[in-house]
Amino acid sequence: MNQPTMRNGLPDDLPDIAHALRWARECVDVMDARVLLRHVLQCPASRLAAWPEQILDAEDWARFRELVERRAAGEPVAYLTGEREFYGRNFMVTPAVLIPRPDTELLVELALAHVSGRRQVRVLDMGTGSGALAVTLALELGEADVTALDRSRETLWVAMANAARLGASVSFVQSDWFSALGEERFELIVSNPPYIASADPHLEEGDLRFEPHAALAAGPAGLDDLAEIVAGAARYLEAGGWLLCEHGYDQAFAVRGLLADAGFASITSWKDLAGIERVSGGRWLGRA
Ligand code: GLN
Repeated sequence: MNQPTMRNGLPDDLPDIAHALRWARECVDVMDARVLLRHVLQCPASRLAAWPEQILDAEDWARFRELVERRAAGEPVAYLTGEREFYGRNFMVTPAVLIPRPDTELLVELALAHVSGRRQVRVLDMGTGSGALAVTLALELGEADVTALDRSRETLWVAMANAARLGASVSFVQSDWFSALGEERFELIVSNPPYIASADPHLEEGDLRFEPHAALAAGPAGLDDLAEIVAGAARYLEAGGWLLCEHGYDQAFAVRGLLADAGFASITSWKDLAGIERVSGGRWLGRA
């Protein structure tokens, strides 16, 4: 086939890779167009560049058009492709779970640093979502005993699928924060809970519109879930154990206050790559 002629922005004939991308660039970001075409063709990025004259078959072209149109209507790329990379691994995501963010890799780094050198450490991830934190920690720590909880059964299915496909050993519990936990205690509790103020206009913008509201919004100041987690965590921590929570860009001071009220020591906030205090935590020294 020669170069297809374009009518109303759409090629009359089946297009080649170059023309499909050119059409898509009219309505979506060029990087998004590439990711979506790679997803449809199940091919590495190099193939798009190396073989621009490859003609799409009718099925791939129809599928690509559908994904581009959905992206143009706002759907997150990760939900369209069903995956997102986190800490160097590919996680399955569905609209039942928050899309893992690069910001949360800070929480992974801090968690690893706080248990470094310890074997058989017991770790709890509260509100696991896709399982990104729990699965990453289980794989990075090797011998750790990782438990992940979430209130939503649908979400736990996604987290369990990720643990299975990435070969991580994680115990999953359906629990509304601490409600279903027993007597067990942990050396480390991590959480990336919902922390956006429920009236924050960002909830109505971009990807957030398509993500589960329950994974994002947490009361008038966005602190309801953080307050519950910080207040309850001590009962589930070994003496000397750490609680580390991700929070919003303007919540570090408030979260340090919650940690102090709950009797934590060594209270600290850590900055993300953008220089914003993004994770705060403290050490539980046990009852005096
Ligand atoms: N960091 C996310 C955002 O601002 C929010 C994630 C969360 O509420 N835990 O989009």
